[in-house]
Amino acid sequence: MPVIFSSFSRLYHSLFLFVFVASSQIVNAQKIQYEISFDNAAHHEAQINVSFTNLTNKPLEVVMSRSSPGRYALHEFAKHVYALEARNSKDQKLQVSRPSPYQWNISGHDGTVRLTYTLFGNRADGTYTGINALFAVLNMPATFMWAHGLEKRPIEVRFRLPEGQQWKVATQLKSEKTPNTFSAPHLQYFLDSPTIVGNYTLREWLITEGGKEKTIQLALLHNGTEAEADQYASLVKKVVSEQKAVYGELPEYDFGKYTFLAAYSPYVSGDGMEHRNSTVCTSTHPLATNALDNLGTISHEFFHAWNVERIRPKSLEPFDFERANMSGELWFAEGFTTYYGNLILSRTGEVTLEQYTRELAANLDYMLRAPGRKLFSAVEMSQQAPFVDAAVSIEPNNRSNTYLSYYNFGDMIALALDLSLRKEFKNLTLDDYMRLVWKKFGKSETPYTMADLRTTLGELTGNQTFANTFYSSFIEGKETAPYKSLLAQAGMLLENANPGQASLGYVALRFSNEGAQIQSPVLRGSPLYLAGMESGDIILSIDGAKPTQENYKALLQQKKPGDTLSIVFSQMGKEKQTSVKLGTDEAMNIVLYEEAGMQVTEQIKSFRKSWLGSKSE
Ligand SMILES: [Zn+2]
Repeated sequence: MPVIFSSFSRLYHSLFLFVFVASSQIVNAQKIQYEISFDNAAHHEAQINVSFTNLTNKPLEVVMSRSSPGRYALHEFAKHVYALEARNSKDQKLQVSRPSPYQWNISGHDGTVRLTYTLFGNRADGTYTGINALFAVLNMPATFMWAHGLEKRPIEVRFRLPEGQQWKVATQLKSEKTPNTFSAPHLQYFLDSPTIVGNYTLREWLITEGGKEKTIQLALLHNGTEAEADQYASLVKKVVSEQKAVYGELPEYDFGKYTFLAAYSPYVSGDGMEHRNSTVCTSTHPLATNALDNLGTISHEFFHAWNVERIRPKSLEPFDFERANMSGELWFAEGFTTYYGNLILSRTGEVTLEQYTRELAANLDYMLRAPGRKLFSAVEMSQQAPFVDAAVSIEPNNRSNTYLSYYNFGDMIALALDLSLRKEFKNLTLDDYMRLVWKKFGKSETPYTMADLRTTLGELTGNQTFANTFYSSFIEGKETAPYKSLLAQAGMLLENANPGQASLGYVALRFSNEGAQIQSPVLRGSPLYLAGMESGDIILSIDGAKPTQENYKALLQQKKPGDTLSIVFSQMGKEKQTSVKLGTDEAMNIVLYEEAGMQVTEQIKSFRKSWLGSKSE
C-alpha cells in the first residue's frame, strides 16, 4: 500500500508538474512585456518598449487610451506619442498605418511585434503622466499603449531606473522576483495601477483582520523631514481606522496591500485619484504648512477603496478606455465619498466642530443657491461628468447657470440622508446604509444599479415608502430636503447670512475709472439678470452715482429688498439705462447654537457625538 501510494503520488506529482510547466509556458508566451526607461527625464521623456507575441496573422491594432479610470472626460493621450517603430521577431521593420488619431495598425508581422516609442509627459497628477529630473508619476492609460483583442493577457512591466539616483518604484502592481519588475493579471488591472518612481519615503503598517494581515503603505515624495513623514503617517492611520469603522472591515486588497502614492511637491498639479488598491494624491502644498488639506484628499480617496472601486455602479463596468464613460450614480460614488471624506476628518478629531460646521455651511450654501438645480437632478448632473471632469474646451459655457457638481450635490444629499435616518429611525445612520450596501454589493463586487440603492434603503429602514420618496424627491427629482429642521437636531442653526440685506445677486465686480465691470457670470433669476445685464457689462452709475470700491456697499446698504435702482450701464459698446428691483441676499450660513446664544441640550451633545465623534475607539 505504501509503495503503490508512493508511485501514484510520484505519477500525480509529475503530471501536475507537466500541466503546470505547460500552462506557465503558454502564459509566458502570451504575456505582454513592457519596459520603460527614463534616460531623458530632464526633458520629460520616457522611452517605452512593448513586446507582443503569439499573434494571429491579422494586423495588430495598437491604441493609446482616451479615458482614465475615475476621470470622466476624454483625453487624447495619443498626442504625446512619437518616434514609434514596430519590428518583428527578426528585428525587421514593419509597416504601420493610422486608421484613427489614437490607433496604429501593424501589418505583415510574423506573430511577434516589438514596438518602441517615446512618450512626453509633464503633468504629474492623478490622470496624466509627469516625468522630470526628480521623479515620474505615471498613470498607465496616459503612458502605455495596448492592443485590441489582447486585453485578457497577463502583463509584465519592467522599470529601468536611472543610475545613481536612488529611485524606487511604488505601485499596486504585483511585485515580481526580478528587481523593479511588476505584473498585472490583465489590461484592466494594469491600466488601473498608477506608479510613482523616485526617491520616496516609505511608511507602512499592518492591520490584522480575521487572522489575515493587510499592509497599508504610504509612499511619500516630498521635500519635508522624516519627522513630518512620521507625523503625517500617524494622521493617515487615524483616517484608515475611522473609515474601517464605518464599514466594519477593510476591503480584500488584491495583493494584501493598499498604497497611498502621495507626491507633495512644487512640480506636481494638485489632484487625487482612486484605484482598487492605491490612490495618487498630489499637491503643491508641503506637509509643513498644509498637512490637513492634504489629509482631506487622502480621506476622500481611501473611502473610494470601498465606494466606487468595489461598491461599483453597473454603468461603469467594464470601464471603457476608448470612450467617455457615463454614470448617473456619481452623486453617490463621488458625492457620498465627499461627505465621508470630510466627516471622517471630524471623527479623527483633527477638525473641530467649528471647522466642520464652517465647511458644511459653505457647501450647503453653494448647493442651495445653484440655479442649475432647477434644470437637472443629481442623476442628470452625474451624467454630465464627461463634460466637466477635467474636460477642457475653448468655447464659453453656461455652467454657472446650468450645472451643480455631483460632488457637492451628492455631498449634501448624503448629509440630508444621514440626518433624516437619524431623525426618522431610531439607531439608524448613514454608516448603517453604507455598511449594508457594502455587504450586499461591495464585498462580493456585484455592480449595483439605482434601483438597488433605493431598494437597499427600503430594506435598511423597513420602510420602502421612505426610500422611494427620498430617492424620487432629492436624487431623481429637484426638491430640496428640509435642511433647517434636520440640522437643528445637531444644534446647528441654518439661517440667512445677511438677513434683510438688499442684493443685486451674487456677482464679482472690478472697479475702474469708468465704473464697475461685471466679472463673473450673471446668475439666472438674479436682479441683474432680470434687468438684462450680462457678464462684461460696465455699470456706469447707480442712482446717478458712479460705483466705486468705497461707495458700492453703502449704496446697497441704504436700500431694502424690493427697492428699485436706476442703473446706467455699457453693454457691448452701447450705453443703456435700466431699473433693477433689488432682491434679498440669499447667502445662507450655519451657526452653532452656542454661537447663537441658544441652549445646547444633552440630547444635542449626544447627537453630535454619535454623528461627528470617533467610531474607532
Ligand atoms: Zn472622488
